[in-house]
Amino acid sequence: MLPPATEMLRQLIAAPSVSSPDLRFDQSNRGVIDQLAEWAAELGFAVRIESLPGDLGKANLIATLGEGEDGLVLSGHTDTVPYNAERWTDDPFVLTEREGKLYGLGTADMKGFFAAALHAVERFDPAALRQPITILGTADEESTMNGARALAESGEHFGRYAIIGEPTGLQPIRKHKGVFYVQVAVGGKAGHASNPALGVNAIEGLQRVLVALQSWRDTIGDRHNDEDFEVPTPTLNFGRISGGDSPNRICDECTLDVDVRLLPGMERQAVVSELRDVVANELDGGPWTFDLRAVGGYADAFSGPTDAAFSEAVETLCGCSAKSALFGTEAPYLAELGLQTLVLGAGDIAVAHQPDEYVTMAAIERATDVYAKLIQRFCTDAP
Ligand SMILES: [Zn+2]
Repeated sequence: MLPPATEMLRQLIAAPSVSSPDLRFDQSNRGVIDQLAEWAAELGFAVRIESLPGDLGKANLIATLGEGEDGLVLSGHTDTVPYNAERWTDDPFVLTEREGKLYGLGTADMKGFFAAALHAVERFDPAALRQPITILGTADEESTMNGARALAESGEHFGRYAIIGEPTGLQPIRKHKGVFYVQVAVGGKAGHASNPALGVNAIEGLQRVLVALQSWRDTIGDRHNDEDFEVPTPTLNFGRISGGDSPNRICDECTLDVDVRLLPGMERQAVVSELRDVVANELDGGPWTFDLRAVGGYADAFSGPTDAAFSEAVETLCGCSAKSALFGTEAPYLAELGLQTLVLGAGDIAVAHQPDEYVTMAAIERATDVYAKLIQRFCTDAP
């Protein structure tokens, strides 16, 4: 018997699993993976824990119940984003209940999913399964997508259909943008502030780049448009600037971290090279050097599934049509494995990646019901 969903969530929240391209914040996800493996084994799953290359304590969980060629995959990431403890009302690692809301880091995004998925499976007698149920728990979705990438590279056949339980308010998502981060580093030359001729100020070079990128943002917005999205254009967010150390020194390097979100059909490499041209043109003839650096991983845009019967079954169950989302997921990697994939989970993406993230118990229960109906539809003979 599994513990109640709230208790499961309490234990998963208590196991820190921050992933970040910044190694100061990056943590192992093994606490979450090991706990999930234990519960899955109790339900009769065959469980594998696969470490990712490198020695950062990162692993994927692959748990399979039943046998067959088709079947359903329920997939989620086990990591969370970093947090600012001082901006939380309570400890982000202690599940705190107030007015029906369960607060904690990763409650909505997306540890609550695993409690719902495992409880859905518990409703079935494994002997009644005609097709397998696979639960995937991935590492590093919030930073590099290396967990999902490792699964995609394995080429393993996990089944025919997949649900990724990211928080969508239980509305199916069939399409989302791609995202990558890039750092623009402008190089100058340090010198004493009293004489500008002694150096080259990188902050001033970066300021030019910033203005040029703002106007490039408008031009790519004019060229690419997909009205399926609430924000129908590609977007650029200037998320972090860093440079200089003292007012009395000429700054020798200034960096700008940019989040770029692409529509399905846009080629990431082509966009990066266009961005490089914009920076090069702007700094051309000036005293600065520049470099473009990849920050963390990237997620490709996603458009699918092609199997209308799957989409229709999920839409009927949820009582609403599949939509598009602005956030990226691991769906392109699962699609690469031939899985018909939709994103569908409890909780609201608007509270994710924020202090006082929460999910309601009612939403987890509704998700459990929906996942159980999908298991019944796609893994048993029962209609
Ligand atoms: Zn997520």
